[in-house]
Amino acid sequence: MIRRIGDIVLIQLSDIDSNIYILGNDVIDAGTGFNFTRLSTILGSIKKSLKDFRLVINTHAHFDHFGGNGYFLNAKVAIHEADAPVLENGEKEMSMADFFDGNIRPRKPDIILKDGDTLDFGGMKLKVIHTPGHTAGSISLFNEAKSILFSGDTVFSDGVGRTDIPGGNPAMLEESLKKLAGLKVKQILPGHGEPVLENGAKVIADLAKAGVNPADEEDEDLIGAPV
Ligand SMILES: [Zn+2]
Ligand SMILES: [Zn+2]
Repeated sequence: MIRRIGDIVLIQLSDIDSNIYILGNDVIDAGTGFNFTRLSTILGSIKKSLKDFRLVINTHAHFDHFGGNGYFLNAKVAIHEADAPVLENGEKEMSMADFFDGNIRPRKPDIILKDGDTLDFGGMKLKVIHTPGHTAGSISLFNEAKSILFSGDTVFSDGVGRTDIPGGNPAMLEESLKKLAGLKVKQILPGHGEPVLENGAKVIADLAKAGVNPADEEDEDLIGAPV
């Protein structure tokens, strides 16, 4: 499925792939890579090829977000310093590659991100905000001029990212929500599910207020929930 949010293109390949955001020749999150034929066809429909891309920014080192990195043949990969070793060492458990039955090829990221860095995403200036909790190196990316927040798996339209997985930390996620609650956010473009097109700040404030409960691994609500 393909959808336009202003100039940004959102591609959703399957229930397990992360959302893939495209602007110009840059990408935020690459999906699992399992559905790359479909991805290639969809890109063709917007007159792009997998060879065209310059940069893939991974919001965190989970397989459903970086498994497809290599299909963007000429793109550099950017990821936060705290999640970079997961890619570089090809850590199967921390990356959830095992969980997805995915093949992880160790790869040294080209660009290592820190809190406060700025990135050019298809001509849109994005500030890197370190928002650990779902993973140690999870980032959110904020464009102040348009009040757009790419929130990875930290914030969704209807909840927050899971912390019942390797590297998850509910207390850290709670701190990260407070950090995001200080931003003037209009649109939230999350790592899974529906985007929030208006009043994003209210969604974040409500989630920050609700807090993060340490997840119970037996919790049935988590069956099939995105990682
Ligand atoms: Zn994740
Ligand atoms: Zn995910």
